[in-house]
Amino acid sequence: MLQWRAVTHRMTERSLLSRLSQKRRSLLRELGNLADEGGVSLYLVGGVVRDLLLKRETWDLDLTVEGDGIAFARLVADRYRAGLAVFERFATARLVFPDGLKMDIATTRRESYAQPALLPTVQPASIEEDLSRRDFTINAIAVQLNTKQFGRLLDPYGGKSDLRARVIRVLHEGSFQDDPTRIFRAIRFEQRFGFRLDPATARLLAQAASMNLIQRLSGPRLQNEVLLLFAERDPVCAIARLGQLKLLRFLHRHLCYTKSVKRTVAAVPKALAWWGRRFQDSVIDKPIVYLMALSSESSSAVVATMIRRLALSREQAKKMNIGRQRVERVLRRLTDPGTVSRSQVFRLLADFSDEACVLLLAKQQRVPLVVRLSLLKRQLVAYTKSKAVKTALTGRDLQAMGLQPGPQYKSILGKLLDARIDGTITTELAERVFVRKWLGNQKIRNDC
Ligand code: ATP
Repeated sequence: MLQWRAVTHRMTERSLLSRLSQKRRSLLRELGNLADEGGVSLYLVGGVVRDLLLKRETWDLDLTVEGDGIAFARLVADRYRAGLAVFERFATARLVFPDGLKMDIATTRRESYAQPALLPTVQPASIEEDLSRRDFTINAIAVQLNTKQFGRLLDPYGGKSDLRARVIRVLHEGSFQDDPTRIFRAIRFEQRFGFRLDPATARLLAQAASMNLIQRLSGPRLQNEVLLLFAERDPVCAIARLGQLKLLRFLHRHLCYTKSVKRTVAAVPKALAWWGRRFQDSVIDKPIVYLMALSSESSSAVVATMIRRLALSREQAKKMNIGRQRVERVLRRLTDPGTVSRSQVFRLLADFSDEACVLLLAKQQRVPLVVRLSLLKRQLVAYTKSKAVKTALTGRDLQAMGLQPGPQYKSILGKLLDARIDGTITTELAERVFVRKWLGNQKIRNDC
């Protein structure tokens, strides 16, 4: 049984909330006054308090109200002209302030789990109970915001001392079983902060993992956790940790996690960094790149099942589905020191997403062939430039030139585009000459 350590003490505003900007602090003071007027207790809670204690930058604010959280959220939205979305079932609301600040406001509640891994039912409860339903001690700290108690810290589970000791600790023995998403959350915080799992927590995590409870999580919930983990600053260590804890099997039992896959995954950060520097406008779905690297040596059937299990979007699925053999083949062609024309590069990569291009780089990066790597980089730059190339003539022009509409349009426009990409045609006039010549050849062929 984990010990309940009732430690509530007052911190001066200066020592904790002063780590927020002046603007945010004033806002919280005003909200404290508003809570006084409404006769409810208001707290800053969870990750934001943890990050303040760790002196890390915080963005969004999480507030909780002992009383009607949604009514309070409506009041705040009205007062500050903030956008409001209410989630009645979970007694929470999300506000977006005109300056972009996001704030979640919830009602303090207790949660009960009818069955492991399913979403809990919630009932209003005290702040103490609300803190007791949270995932880890470091996330179960609150700071009161009402005027008289402004800055009072509530830390009933010793979260502060665990932060100091750099330890992740669950609040009760059934925590991972109630909610197996906490398994991924534990790894996320462990890796993000360089903390370690408390030994009892590590044992409970291994136990819960061995019970296959993660299999009961719905696709969207599992997806959320996996993608959040892969969106962290250093997912390489997180993925290694998943492997070490035998948790990758929850993506797929037959996921091929070999030394060479590990090397590809480890090469992704450098590949992403190069891509980001070279193509600043490209918006990369970073978690998907890691998922692609992780499944880069698995069969198409395994990848397809993973996509379904994680309930990935159609766009993400398309990126994932590029195909192991195809990637290998394209990589071989692009890094062949024999000449490949620009238009051939363009055709080879035509349906490669930017994420797939980063994967190519990561796969090449792990091979210590510097010459081929720089060749690949040159090809990728050429490919990206080629994407902007257009022909001057369109289907309508071909029709005006007397060409009957049909499949040959695609073929001739494709040839024109290749010639533009290769630089053998640079003007509209040259395109017209090319088409006439082509039409002439066709006629001769038909006459024969
Ligand atoms: P991050 O910095 O990654 O956003 P966070 O701790 O703020 O981390 P959120 O998912 O925003 O994480 O959740 C806010 C708070 O809600 C957590 O700090 C924790 O107290 C609580 N919480 C979130 N998910 C769970 C969960 N699965 N079980 C219990 N408590 C949770």
